[in-house]
Amino acid sequence: MLLSTRKMPGLNTRIFIAAAVGILLGGWLNGLPDTDSLRAEVLYWAGILGSLFIGMLKMVVIPLIFTSLVVGIAHLQTHQQAGKVWRYTLGFFITTMVLAVALALLVTSWIKPGSELNLELFAGAMADVQAHGMSGGEFFAQIIKSLFLNPVTAMAEGKILPVVVFAIFLGVALVKAGKPDGENPPGGFQLLTVLNELLTLLMRIIGWIMQLAPFGVLGLLTRLMATQDMALLTTMGEFIVLVFAITFIHGAVVLPGLLYLLTGKSPLWLWRGAREALVTAFATSSSAATLPVTLNCAQDKLGVRKDVAGFVLPVGATMNMDGTALYEASAALFIAYLAGIDLSLGQQLIVMLTAMVASMGAPGIPSAGMVTMVMVLQAVGLPAEAIAILLPIDRILDTIRTAVNVEGDIVTSVVVDSRLKPEA
Ligand code: ASP
Repeated sequence: MLLSTRKMPGLNTRIFIAAAVGILLGGWLNGLPDTDSLRAEVLYWAGILGSLFIGMLKMVVIPLIFTSLVVGIAHLQTHQQAGKVWRYTLGFFITTMVLAVALALLVTSWIKPGSELNLELFAGAMADVQAHGMSGGEFFAQIIKSLFLNPVTAMAEGKILPVVVFAIFLGVALVKAGKPDGENPPGGFQLLTVLNELLTLLMRIIGWIMQLAPFGVLGLLTRLMATQDMALLTTMGEFIVLVFAITFIHGAVVLPGLLYLLTGKSPLWLWRGAREALVTAFATSSSAATLPVTLNCAQDKLGVRKDVAGFVLPVGATMNMDGTALYEASAALFIAYLAGIDLSLGQQLIVMLTAMVASMGAPGIPSAGMVTMVMVLQAVGLPAEAIAILLPIDRILDTIRTAVNVEGDIVTSVVVDSRLKPEA
């Protein structure tokens, strides 16, 4: 009893404190001159802490995606509910993304950020970046091509999408190769047993890595805040606040509202269980790097079945990005306003579709949305070079949109789990 009153605060609390300290410390360091030796020293150590944490997450992410998908699919098939899980997952992914983009378009065209700004202000910046334009067709061709790769190369190079595809093939093959009534029942292959064991071990390693999360979060946020160009942030303030607000509404109202409607679970229950994943996503700006934590939260805190989480979350980390989709739609309108163009309803619909496809094509890594943003701009005839305006503020917006991307994945896993028969 006595001991428990003296216990260290829980991991969640430690991560939160670390995030708050990182933001404050980074903001303070930002005000110091670049030559200040204390600033350099703190940033040096913050850099080491941040890259240690991210490095460890990256160490487990490829084996984790691979094993959790194969095991997830193999178990799903065994339970005869695979079809349902696919349908529910994709249906919910698309529904939430449509809602996210529609919200972004509505609010942005109501506020009209940037319509009063003088574009000349950005003329220099626009000339600076030579973005590589890509047509919609080229973009699709590139995505399709990037789906299939020698799995060893894909794993070695950390290319997540082809790993996902190979894992899906292997998972389905494992099930189909088993004969329901013979000596090879589904799930009876030794490989599946091995992968199951590997998954259990990986989850244990992730538990250890999570103990370092407060230090990692502290380092990452200190560096991020200290190295932002505050002058530019102020100029672009209106747009930054707007995107934060829209993303916040989606994450705090739309997603929890859907969850409540479909499962009766309260927003507080969701945030309590998902907290570590959301803060990690915020600090790392990477859905993929956060995946180990996301799986941990969904399974251990929110009680999502292992096979459902093992399927929905890895796929969601690469494909389901509500935050990115709404950001890309809002940014396209913002650029249009800056250029003095009012996009027609038809053009806004094109923005809606391309923002969804672009976010699906964006891998879950920092600033990935920036790359696919070019496609959205070009789809409605806006200059791709305009991403020069968005680049300097991208990292700061990437924090919250990644957190909402991960929240969307978690909510989907809970909803899908609740729709399945208890016996699954
Ligand atoms: N950083 C985001 C993620 O990992 C992707 C993006 O929008 O850039 O989910």
